[in-house]
Amino acid sequence: MTKAFDAIVVGARCAGSPAAMLLARKGYRVLAVDRATFPSDTLSTHILHPLGVAALSRWGLLDRLAATGCPAINTYAFDFGPFTLAGAPGTTDAPIAYCPRRTILDKLLVDAAAQSGVEVREDFSVDDILVEDGRVVGIKGHSQDGGSVIERAQVVVGADGRHSLVAEAVRPERYDEKPPLLAAYYTYWSGLPMDGRFETYIRDRRGFGVAPTHEDLTMVIVGWPFAEFAENKKDIEGNYLKTIELVPAFADRLRGARREARFAGAAVPNYFCKPYGPGWVLVGDAGYNRDFITGQGIMDAFLDAELCVAAIDMAFSGTRPFEAAMNEYQSMRDARVKAMYEFTCQLATLEPPPPEMQQLFGAIHGNQKAMDDFARMNAGTISPQDFFSPQNVSAIQDAA
Ligand SMILES: Cc1cc2nc3c(=O)[nH]c(=O)nc-3n(C[C@H](O)[C@H](O)[C@H](O)COP(=O)(O)OP(=O)(O)OC[C@H]3O[C@@H](n4cnc5c(N)ncnc54)[C@H](O)[C@@H]3O)c2cc1C
Repeated sequence: MTKAFDAIVVGARCAGSPAAMLLARKGYRVLAVDRATFPSDTLSTHILHPLGVAALSRWGLLDRLAATGCPAINTYAFDFGPFTLAGAPGTTDAPIAYCPRRTILDKLLVDAAAQSGVEVREDFSVDDILVEDGRVVGIKGHSQDGGSVIERAQVVVGADGRHSLVAEAVRPERYDEKPPLLAAYYTYWSGLPMDGRFETYIRDRRGFGVAPTHEDLTMVIVGWPFAEFAENKKDIEGNYLKTIELVPAFADRLRGARREARFAGAAVPNYFCKPYGPGWVLVGDAGYNRDFITGQGIMDAFLDAELCVAAIDMAFSGTRPFEAAMNEYQSMRDARVKAMYEFTCQLATLEPPPPEMQQLFGAIHGNQKAMDDFARMNAGTISPQDFFSPQNVSAIQDAA
């Protein structure tokens, strides 16, 4: 026996649960499956920039996150050694960032999807994508204790992350690809108060980021160029602490703290995929991935889910043909993230900034409006294209 859905969403974390939830809220019959059970962690740190927080607010979920006791972050500080650029990352409407544990954030999203009418199946692995006459028509999968199941839908949404099975099955065109550029390891510390600050330290071919999260813990992620990934893996803790020692004042703070978790590490490729085809669409990392150095992924997954659902709704309701609606989804996604993608990939090399950039950073220092804009640019609140526009750069230089 099979039951037809309007949409089947594969993957139920930052992209999948919001996509499923928003479709269900529009009245569609939605199945969301994930091989994970929730709450569960995933390999990811979890800065959620203000525009990602604003998405939670639009969906009526921000109060739930705030109620989990996640500390608010109101300042981003970028320490380059000789000086620190510290500013406010958000807007008047969305001033706050968070760094919520994925165990908590993802569970909140899955629950919200279920409460919106999505049929959620956890512990369910998709093994195959069903294709008939060149069109995706459903999935074949199994739960941990059950046999093979087939489910059909008008559209299968691949929200299944960087190793997407949906993408593997439909082989989308990939473009603007770049290999992994950065390798990083992170863990959690107690006794390291942050007072509402997300701090980033930038040194020669090294960097680290520090942010407060749930349970009075502080997440510290340390990175080096991908070329050193294999070598540095041989002594993760030693290399992690050696990098921290590049900033003696922070190393002193860390000496008073206690490590509460194992190290987790990763390096990721950078790519765009064409996110649609007959009977399928891709959202989140399945369709577009960028290095995590700028912490854009969760926010991007949220905003992508909104765009993608609007396009699916147009196609389902007959307002626009599927191809045209999806083409617009792709264009809007790419236009929103392209400049940040280039900026992120450049940053992820950990190459020292060229002299003219260093000069600009010097001019930004002490100019609070420019430091706020710098924080906003790193948060994805404003585009690097606007921040680095000739007009803005000369305004900053003139003021200096
Ligand atoms: C080290 C690291 C640090 C990062 N730090 C940040 C940060 O600070 N801020 C930020 O915004 N982003 C960060 N990111 C990026 C962020 O993790 C991703 O962009 C985000 O998780 C994308 O969400 P997603 O829903 O697309 O994919 P995922 O979170 O990967 O979820 C995919 C889901 O699909 C499920 N799935 C996959 N295949 C199947 C299958 N065959 N059957 C059933 N289920 C399946 C998986 O179980 C998983 O739950 C970081 C990433 C890494 C690696």
